[in-house]
Amino acid sequence: MSEARVAEVLLDQNLEKPLDYEIPETFRASIQVGSRVEVYVRNSLRKGTIATLKKASQFAKLRPLHRLITQTTLSDPLWQLAHWMSRYYCTSLQRTMKCFTPPNVRREIKPKTRLTVKLATTRELALELCKKLQSKQSAQASVLEKILNAEKPPFLSALLEELEISRSPIDSLVKKKALQLEEIVDDALEDADFFPSPPKTLNAEQATCLKDIGESLQSGTFKTHLLFGVTGSGKTEVYLQAIQQVLDLGKSALLLVPEIALTSQTIERFRARFGIKLAVLHHRKSLGERSAAWESLKKGETKIAIGARSAIFCPAQDLGLIIIDEEHDSSYKQNEEMPTYHARDIAVMRGKLEKAVVLLGSATPSLDSYHNAINGKYRLNILTSRATKASQPTMRIIDMKSALDKAGGFSHFSPDLLDAIKEKTKKGEQTLLLLNKRGYRRMQICSECRYIAKCPHCDLSLTYHKGPNTLRCHLCDYQTHLLRQCPSCQSSSQMEFRGFGTEHVEKSLCAIFPDVRTLRMDRDTTQKKNSHEEMFKQFRAHKADVLIGTQMIAKGFHFPSVTLVGILNADAALQIPDFRSSESLFQLIAQASGRAGRSELKGEVILQTFLPQHPLLHLAATQDYQAFHTREIDERRLFSFPPFCRLAKVVFSGPDENETLEAITQFRTALVSAALPNTEILPALPAGHPKIKDRYRFQFLTKTGNIMPLSDCLTTLRSRAPTSRKIHILIDIDPTSTFF
Ligand code: ADP
Ligand code: ZN
Ligand code: ZN
Repeated sequence: MSEARVAEVLLDQNLEKPLDYEIPETFRASIQVGSRVEVYVRNSLRKGTIATLKKASQFAKLRPLHRLITQTTLSDPLWQLAHWMSRYYCTSLQRTMKCFTPPNVRREIKPKTRLTVKLATTRELALELCKKLQSKQSAQASVLEKILNAEKPPFLSALLEELEISRSPIDSLVKKKALQLEEIVDDALEDADFFPSPPKTLNAEQATCLKDIGESLQSGTFKTHLLFGVTGSGKTEVYLQAIQQVLDLGKSALLLVPEIALTSQTIERFRARFGIKLAVLHHRKSLGERSAAWESLKKGETKIAIGARSAIFCPAQDLGLIIIDEEHDSSYKQNEEMPTYHARDIAVMRGKLEKAVVLLGSATPSLDSYHNAINGKYRLNILTSRATKASQPTMRIIDMKSALDKAGGFSHFSPDLLDAIKEKTKKGEQTLLLLNKRGYRRMQICSECRYIAKCPHCDLSLTYHKGPNTLRCHLCDYQTHLLRQCPSCQSSSQMEFRGFGTEHVEKSLCAIFPDVRTLRMDRDTTQKKNSHEEMFKQFRAHKADVLIGTQMIAKGFHFPSVTLVGILNADAALQIPDFRSSESLFQLIAQASGRAGRSELKGEVILQTFLPQHPLLHLAATQDYQAFHTREIDERRLFSFPPFCRLAKVVFSGPDENETLEAITQFRTALVSAALPNTEILPALPAGHPKIKDRYRFQFLTKTGNIMPLSDCLTTLRSRAPTSRKIHILIDIDPTSTFF
């Protein structure tokens, strides 16, 4: 290292290629690959990361590095991971580095710290002093007493509040050298109260799974396990005890949960077991808090990290275990921007590089992971029954056509569902109602000429929201007033509404049962920070009988008094032409029904559909994953879709329709000419949303048996693509959606 005179610096912004800088004498001993530095580019200072160290440069005159910010940002395995990601996801290393150096690192945000109060002397001397102070300086005495009795040094702020004193008695005790103040990093650990929860005695199935996972942990080698356990089977308890084993080995653990499940309820379950040795990585935290969590993981002071997708890049030291809870969840995939990584796949790669165990958990594993498990690539660990007395809910499929025929008109609710809601509410139990569309009415249409009110910027009909009384675009948030008259044929009083959303469901239910208290949870009602957390708390505290919402209410929550789940339009998902739509629907139904009857109360699920004979609904209703898997995997094999091939989706978007189509056609032709073996290139077509925010979107799909050569080829073609700056190219490797 001492021979290195030149550093290649990857700037945080603009230039994708690294620049050469001379390493000043003073930095030479400490600088390394991954160091954060500041350099001059022309006349301005820019930050970046050192990508390579070398003896000499091809350029004669180099400018020196200006400042060394931190010695290391990335461990060796993380650095290798970045290189792999960059290649696999066709994204420059500079852009990929954004994942590894989040804003708290880039902007050098100081960790948030707090003061704690601790003894500066022995217990004996402190006790003696305490006695002496009792009569004259009672405030000081009570401070000492508190600290002597505390299990761990309290926060200064908490102590002042609890004793209702000013700071002066504490300052006096510090002067007397009885106490000292210590600044500790506040690594995003809310000091919420929690009840300690000791490990549970595992049932036989859990014990077998843990033993198997434990053997992998002990061996200290890379291994991926798939923990396939029905909802409520006690997967979390297995995670908790596996984490304990990792801590006992002196290593650290990283747990990923879906974005929406990163609530205080989830965090408290882990904190109750492990106390405060837990870093929570969350976009709702301030940058100072995130910096604190990041630093403490990097120093190895905190050994457990919990977070959503992007936490997979956190600098946990000496990683022994990575857990991906609900591994099938689509929020682990970054779709909108490159690198279009999947946190589960990154986890497996990171585990390989760090020789760590990767534990994927789900009640409805993705077909890809399950396929890997039955083919021996992953270890399969199974939990077949619920861990508590709770039994699996019963499930009923209701044919909505005949229900509505009988009722003689439209309703969201079949008579069966209404009866069930009434009965549950009477008993003081709770209901979840799921509809995958927010708003009041789905669209406004002219009955005369079929004109549909659409967003002027997107190719999408506008949804009517009754609360604010506006038409809204769900792609770009464009808003406008309701149409009184058809802009196309000018006929007035002919504008009708079609389709329904959650807002309408809530209103209808309140009209039928004025006494039933409802809460509605969708993107409209959870805009504000923490609002979704607040709503969950309210519902758990039984401030409402029925929670109505989009799929966000179906995931991973534990509401002990929910005994009924109604899925209002179960077949909506099947209308999306995507090879994954059956899989998503199966998962949605199984997850939603997992919310019913989590305690000793018996649960029930009512599935309303216009396709009552659809085999998928029956498989979902009986929760027969194996049968579902057999059926679906055959179809995937037949039509050659993952896991039998790999996919890449190329999306072009631009303000001019023809120009964009032209550009993607050229790109596609070049890819065809590259003649990659074992690769099929499908035609370029308008995307499922053909226009968003005034940009036209075209895409094509590529299937291949060998992804890396395809990635390399796409990267090369993209760098050569002679497109105008206005056209944006997105390369999505392993896309989760092939339609939109
Ligand atoms: P999952 O994560 O598989 O959905 P959970 O871990 O939430 O399941 O467990 C469901 C319930 O069962 C929880 O209330 C949990 O405390 C309880 N539980 C789990 N394992 C045990 C056990 N071995 N003994 C008793 N209760 C258990
Ligand atoms: Zn009209
Ligand atoms: Zn729009």
